[in-house]
Amino acid sequence: MMARRGSPRDRGDDDGPAAGDPDDEEMGHADEGAAVSCPYCGAANEIALDPSGGRRQDYVEDCQVCCQPWNVHVQYRRDGTAEIRVTAADAD
Ligand SMILES: [Zn+2]
Repeated sequence: MMARRGSPRDRGDDDGPAAGDPDDEEMGHADEGAAVSCPYCGAANEIALDPSGGRRQDYVEDCQVCCQPWNVHVQYRRDGTAEIRVTAADAD
């Protein structure tokens, strides 16, 4: 038998409130995708980001519209936001 605590609504082994925190954080930061403009054709593209890949990332991605290669530079700030730069791959 457990001793009664102050509140009859004490959450005990209910993990409801604890489970809410990661969800809020995930939804609060737009770090799973970013809108960028193609340096070749100017079209808006949505690119996927991988925050687990490191604070600084450089990779090549093709434009979804004109298929030209970009150099994508991603840097995460301390507050968790991402700074993204897209340059034309063959001009860099
Ligand atoms: Zn393009």
